Amino acid sequence: MNEFADERLNIKRKVLVVDDEIVNRQMLGKILGEDYEVHYASNGTEALEKLRDESGLISLMLLDLMMPEKDGYAVMEEMKADKELASIPVIVLTSERAAEVQSLQKGAVDFIPKPYDMPEVIKARVKRSIELSEKTNVINATQSDALTGLFNREYFYEYVGLLDHYNPDIKMNALAVNINRFHLINDMRGRKFGNDLLIAMADAIRSLVREEHGIGSRIDSDSFFLYLPVHKTPEEILTVLANGTEAYLDNPRSRIRLGVYESADRALEPERRFDRALMACNSIRKNYSTQIAYYDEVMHKDEAFSERLINDIGKALEEKQFCVFYQAKFAIQEEKDVMSSAEALIRWKHPDLGMIRPDQFIPLFEENGLVQKLDRFVWRESAAQIKAWKDKFGIVIPVLVNVSRIDLLETDFIDEISGIVRSNGLNNEDLLLEVTESAYTENSEQIVEIVNRLRGLGFKVEMDDFGSGYSSLNMLSSLPIDALKLDMGFIRNIHNNDKDMKMVELMMDIADFLSVPVIAEGVEEEEQYRLLKDAGVDLIQGYYFSKPVPAEEFEYMIRERVDSLKEREK
Ligand code: C2E
Ligand code: CA
Ligand code: CA
Repeated sequence: MNEFADERLNIKRKVLVVDDEIVNRQMLGKILGEDYEVHYASNGTEALEKLRDESGLISLMLLDLMMPEKDGYAVMEEMKADKELASIPVIVLTSERAAEVQSLQKGAVDFIPKPYDMPEVIKARVKRSIELSEKTNVINATQSDALTGLFNREYFYEYVGLLDHYNPDIKMNALAVNINRFHLINDMRGRKFGNDLLIAMADAIRSLVREEHGIGSRIDSDSFFLYLPVHKTPEEILTVLANGTEAYLDNPRSRIRLGVYESADRALEPERRFDRALMACNSIRKNYSTQIAYYDEVMHKDEAFSERLINDIGKALEEKQFCVFYQAKFAIQEEKDVMSSAEALIRWKHPDLGMIRPDQFIPLFEENGLVQKLDRFVWRESAAQIKAWKDKFGIVIPVLVNVSRIDLLETDFIDEISGIVRSNGLNNEDLLLEVTESAYTENSEQIVEIVNRLRGLGFKVEMDDFGSGYSSLNMLSSLPIDALKLDMGFIRNIHNNDKDMKMVELMMDIADFLSVPVIAEGVEEEEQYRLLKDAGVDLIQGYYFSKPVPAEEFEYMIRERVDSLKEREK
């Protein structure tokens, strides 16, 4: 609701006058008619009907208490129980002073004594009640999440602080709740079903919060936080949540995960406490047999390590502690296997911690919005390398760089990447981009739009880690992609697991349907290579051919093949 817009538009608000005596209705109509659009009802049943018909558009109700059949108290009772009506302010009309307290208890905002001999007072009370009610609506709208009515993140943290302030001695648990595969549920069952599930979860959380005197919040999508006194065990809490959502979570893989940070340390900012609960919750994302995880010593060490890395990244960039390794990719469906391109993979040579693998810092920096700088460094480095090899050997070895979801969402992303290519005198197709499947599934419309623009400019975009995300075929066929790179997890066991090989064949069919080539990475054994070649995989990247190596080492591989590469380029 936008009260200010209403004011500018000079909308007459609707007021409902409910009284069984026609004289009273007429008098109030006269007093309020100039400023409001006045509607009338002569008994409780009619009043509730009118409120429902106008579905939330009545700004205020003036309600007589004494009416035959359904009286004013009964009307207020019913309104309280109805989400749509509960927030409409009620002013009670009464000639008994004694009824005043009782009606305020029932939820009336004010009362007007009969007889109506002070029109200005009545006008002023009506105006004030409407204003106040609209203000609280505005506040409620910004404090709570529109779908579930739980606090949103920002207000949640504020209220955690308040709760601490008023209950300094009560031990509290910080809990993070998540629904596994919620994406998929949304995709397959539709948004309405997904929303209903979230609402059911919020209702279960509300009941817990009421009973335990805590607070709950929806952080985003399917992620909820709870701040509860140490009383119920996490198992008991999980049971309440599971019972509340039972009707929606019928697939055993769609389960609730609970991360617990017990007796949360109040010396930490609320955000930090819930980071810990979330960390616990995320630690069992792929563990299908566990639903509850506790923040523990190991996580504490990880957290400390992550903090160290975040602290060190600025200096590391300045001191050029990062470098780029290159891993060759081979085309295997030709007469002879030929090196066709390379993937750029970042490495961090930390002065104290030694060589750090990207798995340990990339996801962390993606979360913290720090990955863009690193990625841009890798793109610049890679483009310069292509140029250097081009000058030296007279051939272009295309290099694939990894592009994170947040890179794509930067407003100057396309300018940046085009600028890098141009300033090295390369073509857009020489620097290939890898985007993970999961990047496509979140913010998909926006990502698709950007990738379309990139391809319009001649960039090639490959989908990385295919099979690990949750794309549906519908979605895939509308996605702009130039190649599919299978997730390494499927390749690992194809030589001793029929099921995995079946999965690979399935993905090959999809690639065929989309008319794009397939790349398999993580190929280490001869037998994996054979199987994939027979299955029709076009390109292979893996230790079987070569590990990622520094540029100087990669140069040897080019040198050895320079003639055949030149031959191929023609
Ligand atoms: P990715 O993009 O899926 O890269 C493939 C990973 O598989 C690389 O790990 C590579 O070294 C490894 N690999 C390749 N062949 C084999 C094999 O035969 N066996 C095994 N066991 N592993 C193999 P790396 O270099 O540790 O990178 C890990 C992940 O970090 C990458 O996964 C990518 O998601 C991310 N990453 C690396 N460099 C960058 C970067 O510059 N920017 C961004 N945004 N992410 C990067
Ligand atoms: Ca990659
Ligand atoms: Ca990959």
